[in-house]
Amino acid sequence: MSCALVTGASRGLGRAIAVQLAKDHGLHILVNYSSNQAAADETLAEINSNGGTGELLQFNVQTKTEVDDALNAWREANPEKYISVLVNNAGVTRDGLFMWMPEKDWDDVMNISTKGLFNVTQNAIQQMLRKRSGRIVNIASVSGMKGVAGQTNYSAAKGAIVAATKALAQEVAKRKITVNAVAPGFITSDMTKDLNEDELKQMIPMNRFGKPDEVAHLVSFLCSDKAAYITGEVVNINGGIYS
Ligand code: NAP
Repeated sequence: MSCALVTGASRGLGRAIAVQLAKDHGLHILVNYSSNQAAADETLAEINSNGGTGELLQFNVQTKTEVDDALNAWREANPEKYISVLVNNAGVTRDGLFMWMPEKDWDDVMNISTKGLFNVTQNAIQQMLRKRSGRIVNIASVSGMKGVAGQTNYSAAKGAIVAATKALAQEVAKRKITVNAVAPGFITSDMTKDLNEDELKQMIPMNRFGKPDEVAHLVSFLCSDKAAYITGEVVNINGGIYS
């Protein structure tokens, strides 16, 4: 049975992506989360209420042993299932001016985004390589494309994701695994709930924040058979704020 692993699927974009992948592709969804089990349960309930299936898989993406233990145990317990789609979505912001940025804020953002991508992808890709098929979508950000003041850590982390996407895509293309990135602008979620939307939307040509569903449809397309020849690509989804 084909499965999709979505990291950080308890809330926001990750939840919308998990629900959409179940709806569009009938994939069994592994709903990863870090600490918010109640929210992850809500994601699973939404998948189930649309006729889909899934299960929760808790691990902290930044800790390699935790990732390997969780995924290896799951694989052992589910020999008939395999992860054909991986969405590296887990991410956090710790905004602040660089000159005063605590080292921990740099490390947390880098470790969850970039080390997390390494940990989860390196585990999940082994079986894709053997099966000679797979889809990997990495959630980057407009911050990683243009750089955003007050987000040097986050811009660095997301820029690294963009570059890693392009490099890995070339390594695994022969095995029919595609690796792409999606770079959202301002999307309504817990991550952006404290921002001044009325002020910020004036800078956005579409004059509004995006919705998690809109990102989920793009990710779902990149995970489809129709997107078989798209790899190493970064797709902006930002209402026109940057291209
Ligand atoms: P969010 O609402 O804050 O949700 C973050 C998700 O990541 C939660 O499910 C959280 O799990 C999970 N997570 C955090 N740290 C984790 C860790 N160490 N291990 C595993 N899971 C972890 O964020 P969002 O807005 O949906 O953002 C999702 C992704 O899109 C992020 O990579 C973000 O950088 C990117 N993005 C967002 C926007 C935007 O405007 N919202 C724009 C561009 C890019 P818990 O619930 O357990 O805490």
